[in-house]
Amino acid sequence: MFNISRSSFIKGFALGLSATLVLTACGGGGSEPASESGPAASESPEGTFRVATEPAFPPFESQSESGELEGFDIDLMEAIGAEAGLDVEFESLPFDGIIPALQAGTVDAAISAMTITAEREETVDFSQPYFKAGLAIAVREDSASEITSLDDLQNKKIAVQIGTTGADKAAEIPGAEITTFDSAPLALQELSNGNVDAVINDAPVTLDAIASGNLSGLEVVGELLTEEFYGIALPSGSDNVDTVNEALNTLIENGTYAEIYRKWFDADPPELPESAL
Ligand code: GLN
Repeated sequence: MFNISRSSFIKGFALGLSATLVLTACGGGGSEPASESGPAASESPEGTFRVATEPAFPPFESQSESGELEGFDIDLMEAIGAEAGLDVEFESLPFDGIIPALQAGTVDAAISAMTITAEREETVDFSQPYFKAGLAIAVREDSASEITSLDDLQNKKIAVQIGTTGADKAAEIPGAEITTFDSAPLALQELSNGNVDAVINDAPVTLDAIASGNLSGLEVVGELLTEEFYGIALPSGSDNVDTVNEALNTLIENGTYAEIYRKWFDADPPELPESAL
């Protein structure tokens, strides 16, 4: 299903969408006076639509050598912005800082390969699902015959990215010794270095990392552990949920979504459900 070749990943032609990366220090520059509609106001005073992302999760979001954001999520969010008339401005945040930023209202939305979960829905709103993914186990090739399932991970050393569904899954494994990292590439590097036995991470991202050749000797084993759907996260009660969903549906209907999907995954997109849970 995740038939990703690095060449297709790289060859993707530009859709004419450009991404602006705005690095904002946490809490910095956020002292504009609250607008009339109060702290839950969903757009910044300048009228930009501030979208958080953690750009270390290719092929969904990463930074090119010249520092530009790129990836499936970036193209999709730019297309949603163009469709909905939202002036999208990306802000780079650590993954585990995204939900707090949405709650604090310092960003208007987030697109960061974020799985729609019941727990997260208690604190933020999600768009309808825009991508079907799932967790996979990665191991070093030399242990691929010993570790083939979740059961084989009992009492093993596992690296995960902090605050992710992969970290939650690892926490359920009896006796597992878990090391958390700020980003998925760091967790995978730890595995490649031989310091842990496995990584639990989103399958498309692990497969892309292996296909990229940046990490040697790694392999995905077994079945996908979960079926997960990514959603665009917004502050709870945001008026923009409907706006984003309408634009997303238009892009699915007019073929733009499929075009972006093919650019990054070299495959036709699967059908998406109306809701993830
Ligand atoms: N999909 C995973 C989650 O939502 C990982 C997301 C990420 O690291 N960007 O927890």
